[in-house]
Amino acid sequence: KSGFVTLIGRPNVGKSTLMNQLIGQKIAITSDKPQTTRNRIQTIVTREEGQIVFIDTPGIHTPKHKLGEYMVSVAEKTLREVDVVLWLIEPDKTIGKGDKYVLEQLKKTKTPVFLIINKIDTLPKEEIFDVINKYKDQYDFKEIIPISALRGENTDDLIKILLKYL
Ligand code: GDP
Ligand code: MG
Repeated sequence: KSGFVTLIGRPNVGKSTLMNQLIGQKIAITSDKPQTTRNRIQTIVTREEGQIVFIDTPGIHTPKHKLGEYMVSVAEKTLREVDVVLWLIEPDKTIGKGDKYVLEQLKKTKTPVFLIINKIDTLPKEEIFDVINKYKDQYDFKEIIPISALRGENTDDLIKILLKYL
């Protein structure tokens, strides 16, 4: 199995930490999915069951800054071309303007979207359900997965679940 995944989310949500936690070997990958040259490979995760290429979605991680039409089109294209989109959020943050923007972009694509609640090491277990409840009706998320990118909690499960979608 092999496929492409993109990771989106606000600055400081833990995207780089998750990439570092998952970091894999750089092995050539073959896929029949066409990729835009604008897409930057962040890392390739290799497991016995398959390989996942994580690629960057320029434009959508920085919803604060005013996006040109070109950036929007690149972001939309990336969201369409990947197999799964991971949207990272932090538990303590409210759903803001930037999040609404991301949700609008996600609604334009049929690509499966997972909601990844990061930094669960910073809150009591029972509060995770409150976060899930806050987000679950905002979008038809295929999976909602709480993780700690820093401590590697649930990150192996995330990979296992991702591989099922490839
Ligand atoms: P990015 O901007 O989305 O790439 O975020 P970074 O990966 O740079 O992380 C921003 C900050 O959040 C850093 O100080 C990380 O150590 C911290 N961080 C990331 N993941 C976690 C986590 O799971 N738990 C905790 N407590 N901190 C985290
Ligand atoms: Mg980063």
